[in-house]
Amino acid sequence: MIPARSFAGRRVALFGLGGSGIATARALIEGGAEVLAWDDNPESVAKAIAEGIGTGDLRQTDWGGFASFVLSPGVPLTHPKPHWSVELARGAGVEVIGDIELFARERTASAPDAPFIAITGTNGKSTTTALTAHIIKASGRDAQMGGNIGRAVMTLDPPRSDRNYVVECSSYQIDLAPSINPTAGVLLNLTPDHLDRHGTMQHYASIKERLVAGSETAIIGIDDIYCAQIADRLEKAGKDVVRISKRLPLTDGYFADGTDLMEAVHGRYSRIGFLEGIGSLRGQHNAQNALAAVVACLKVGLDLGEIQSGLESFPGLAHRMEQVGRKDHVLFVNDSKATNADASAPALSSFPRIYWIAGGLPKEGGIEPLRSFFPRIAKAYLIGEAAPAFSATLGEAVPYEISGTLAAAVEHAAHDAALDDAGEAVVLLSPACASFDQFKNFEVRGDAFRAAVAAIDKVKPIGGTR
Ligand code: ADP
Repeated sequence: MIPARSFAGRRVALFGLGGSGIATARALIEGGAEVLAWDDNPESVAKAIAEGIGTGDLRQTDWGGFASFVLSPGVPLTHPKPHWSVELARGAGVEVIGDIELFARERTASAPDAPFIAITGTNGKSTTTALTAHIIKASGRDAQMGGNIGRAVMTLDPPRSDRNYVVECSSYQIDLAPSINPTAGVLLNLTPDHLDRHGTMQHYASIKERLVAGSETAIIGIDDIYCAQIADRLEKAGKDVVRISKRLPLTDGYFADGTDLMEAVHGRYSRIGFLEGIGSLRGQHNAQNALAAVVACLKVGLDLGEIQSGLESFPGLAHRMEQVGRKDHVLFVNDSKATNADASAPALSSFPRIYWIAGGLPKEGGIEPLRSFFPRIAKAYLIGEAAPAFSATLGEAVPYEISGTLAAAVEHAAHDAALDDAGEAVVLLSPACASFDQFKNFEVRGDAFRAAVAAIDKVKPIGGTR
């Protein structure tokens, strides 16, 4: 745990007692702060009391004595409207911050030279964070990974100059971290998302921009117009900007040429690494993630040999184009995290011959946006409530069956793919739907897929439960 010593002797209000809220309260108490915590859910309050955390209804409290107000990133700061606790804090002139801000202040105070890589973007955050931490760890260095992935940031080990922090940041967390100051800040991409919580695209982009604006080196994926503009703006303002692109040769920066990772210096290119043969990093989207990880690792002092070897041993993240088994020429891929059409697109674009398991609780727009991938789909196996709507979209374009359940879909797809003689065939679970009609969440759905694959006669499982 990182004791939040910069709050020693101060009174701090805290709202939101989920996992990261409790961890943050404990870090504040450990650092010597007096915490008054609250949550709208009485069960969470009871949990905090059991942990010895001071609690009290923040509506019945005098805010005058608080130095800071720590808000959980799950609670609305601005949209659709500020939570009542935010209104109270603002009314009393108390700063509103989150756990990443506590981390940034502690690092600045105790070990400002501890390498700190912060990663954001609309898509690919978790993959890039896990990959970066993996490369650093595989090189024999201390890598602490947390934030919006895995552990709450204040539960990591305390800052030390030889300790590398790799922190995934959601826009909500950045919004609550005004002095975030990473050694390397990564902004992967920006597409309209979560606008219910951010109002406009402009507001959403401006929050993401803060992470790179505060960093020593800003690593920015310039394949969308929002990020390209941010890179130009920061560079003009004198920031050290490194551009990356998954598809365009750049004059200066890093780009992917197929599976080759290239560096460009004043228009001269050299190959610095490759993704050929790395199953966990297939697809153009993963080239963007890999380039960001490579540049961040270079910034914190790794060499190209260490980085390539880390890329090659990356196991991938569960439920994101995760290879879970193979039987002869058939590969089984779990992409259960793809809960809408946009999220399924990368997987569908990464494999040429697909036995596609899709469906669940349908999202607006269905699978119409995926039409350009239909020629790659040998057959579709539809499950859950979305099956009738998806079958109507597939129409004559793609052979399909309504399998109903995931178990039936896996069995039928495996059978059909085994008979395919066109090279590698992929049985892909990439549902383009939420899971809640048949499963508790996308993780449970992905685990069910993995188990169904493992039960197929003579299948060789890949990886294990992570
Ligand atoms: P996040 O943490 O931002 O949600 P993940 O790394 O968990 O992202 O990936 C979630 C899904 O998003 C993946 O299964 C893939 O379909 C898609 N994805 C991953 N990386 C990218 C990227 N760089 N660009 C676009 N889509 C991506």
